[in-house]
Amino acid sequence: MKFKFLHPRDEIIEIINRIYQNGMTTTSGGNLSILDEDGSIWITPKGVDKGSLIPKDIVRVLPNGIIEGIHEPSSEFPFHLAIYKARPDIKAIVHAHPPALVSFAITRKIPDTHIVPKASEICGKVGYAKYALPGSDKLGEVIAEVFKQNHDTVLMENHGIVAVGNSLIHAFQRLETLDYCARLTLKANILGKVKVLSNEDLELSRKESTLEEFEPANHSSKEKEIRKNIISLIHRSYSQNLVTSMEGTFSARVEADKFIITPWGMDRKYLSEEDLVLIEGNKREAGKKPSRSVNLHKEIYEKNPEINAILIAHPPNILAFGVSDAKFDSRTIPESYLVLRDIQKLP
Ligand SMILES: [Zn+2]
Repeated sequence: MKFKFLHPRDEIIEIINRIYQNGMTTTSGGNLSILDEDGSIWITPKGVDKGSLIPKDIVRVLPNGIIEGIHEPSSEFPFHLAIYKARPDIKAIVHAHPPALVSFAITRKIPDTHIVPKASEICGKVGYAKYALPGSDKLGEVIAEVFKQNHDTVLMENHGIVAVGNSLIHAFQRLETLDYCARLTLKANILGKVKVLSNEDLELSRKESTLEEFEPANHSSKEKEIRKNIISLIHRSYSQNLVTSMEGTFSARVEADKFIITPWGMDRKYLSEEDLVLIEGNKREAGKKPSRSVNLHKEIYEKNPEINAILIAHPPNILAFGVSDAKFDSRTIPESYLVLRDIQKLP
């Protein structure tokens, strides 16, 4: 899906559907907006079920305040407007009430994004806004003030979350990733002591791979089949919450020193066969960026000729063991041990 060619109405529908389907909002809560180039704001309507919105429900508020559309704009329009006025770099806003993040908001806590490698980079600076009446100008003032301090995601006391971005998908990815950190932290806290990564580890995880480019002479039928299988699995994994839109790397071996891997920085929900990257020896398919964990995959294939596929995923239930000091024991139900055997935990 190419978001840059979508009309703001369609973009809003696509993202509100993802938010609703991911259980991040109720039928009545949450609102999304896009600031258009002419200064108009496209926003979700007031009082319409968030699970069944269609493009014509989206409201346009012109710079002079005139409203176009069949509904009234969201009752939270004042805070959207206040944020756009406070920060000219912001082009889209997502507001929702995901249960895990609201759990933090009602206990006056901010989830730590340093528990997994990429989250702090995606979410940016996370802030906290004091409570004010929903729909009031006061709420707009309070939130805009926090965004003025260069925060990118803001928890709203006893209310919800606001994420901003240079596009709606960018704001959504921040919301989704922070929600993921919140869900992971809640689960890890049940299991044991939550551990965070050092700045040094985080810095290392941002290094890009330095493989040289090559132009493949051809793409074999086997390679095409592998591409199709990876895409089918990653889409299933996204819908099952095993990967997030920005995290999760799948690969499969084509030949001894050739494998296919998912790309860096592309939304997992919309990946297609042609986005996947062919790696041969120390080279990557021209014009494409492989996942930053490409060297890990490469080394596993090189040292283990019997391994033909690798999935790196982030399901919160199992990763809760990864970010806490708890040990995972698969000897809980027969099927678990039969399929998994003993699970190693690496530093
Ligand atoms: Zn709300």
